[in-house]
Amino acid sequence: MNLGLEGKSVVVLASSKGLGKATAHLFAEEGAHVFIASRNESELEKTKNEIQKETGNAHVHYQVCDITNPDSIKQLIAKAAAKHGTIDILVNNAGGPPAGLFDDFDDDAWQNAFELNLLSFVRAIREALPYMKKQQSGHIVNITSSSIKQTLDNLILSNTFRAGIVGLAKSLSQELAADNILINTIGPGRIATDRVTSLDQITAKKQNMDPDEQRKKSEQSIPMQRYGEPDEFAKMVVFLCSQANTYVTGQTLVVDGGLVKAL
Ligand code: NAP
Repeated sequence: MNLGLEGKSVVVLASSKGLGKATAHLFAEEGAHVFIASRNESELEKTKNEIQKETGNAHVHYQVCDITNPDSIKQLIAKAAAKHGTIDILVNNAGGPPAGLFDDFDDDAWQNAFELNLLSFVRAIREALPYMKKQQSGHIVNITSSSIKQTLDNLILSNTFRAGIVGLAKSLSQELAADNILINTIGPGRIATDRVTSLDQITAKKQNMDPDEQRKKSEQSIPMQRYGEPDEFAKMVVFLCSQANTYVTGQTLVVDGGLVKAL
């Protein structure tokens, strides 16, 4: 199957580490022109150099971008479009909101999670759409969480705003299909990244357990008996954004080794 990604202009938000980085890496392997973006410049530079070296793709660039800042998103998309001629593919991703229960959060915490995990995606889509509409083609994928199918304990902020992304993407899939722009939402189950390690540490502390023991217990709760690798997640994002995907839009799917039991 030809993914047809050679020379395509891709922007991946929140991509110096974890799922965003793995996704950018795979796009680069496929010959796409990739912009990575997050807040820490030295991490970005390290990641860009690593991806260039491992893939042999010189068309990997970075831009410092705090996705909670609308001007920062505007600058990122404009810069990527100026460098690569257009925006063909947008992968929306973000850092995770803090873990906690309803009583743990005041209005500021809710507002911050809204800006980080929902409004940032709206803003990035708004900036990328004119390029996609002009060329009458585009692919957008939103990275969220398995909570789009089944809520997660102690993650009320994530559970709330990820559901908002599902509504946004389904609505947009209806509005944008006539322009040949496809938009889908993918939820990771437990993929081995820093975020999952830090959530495991929080759980281990709460339950007075050793973090390694906690991880083992968590892996055993997954039908595939292990955490996923970032690359296994990235493959699904890259397929949905490829030229091989011409008809899947408005869908919500999880990459979770069988973890979610909801239909
Ligand atoms: P991660 O390893 O912690 O990486 C997060 C990335 O986001 C980093 O590159 C970070 O770089 C960047 N970032 C954070 N805040 C940002 C901001 N305001 N502006 C721009 N970039 C920002 O996380 P991950 O595991 O890859 O997770 C990615 C997303 O998937 C998160 O929303 C997470 O909650 C969700 N998720 C992941 C899993 C999983 O199994 N890994 C499961 C469920 C949901 P800087 O800090 O340098 O900006």
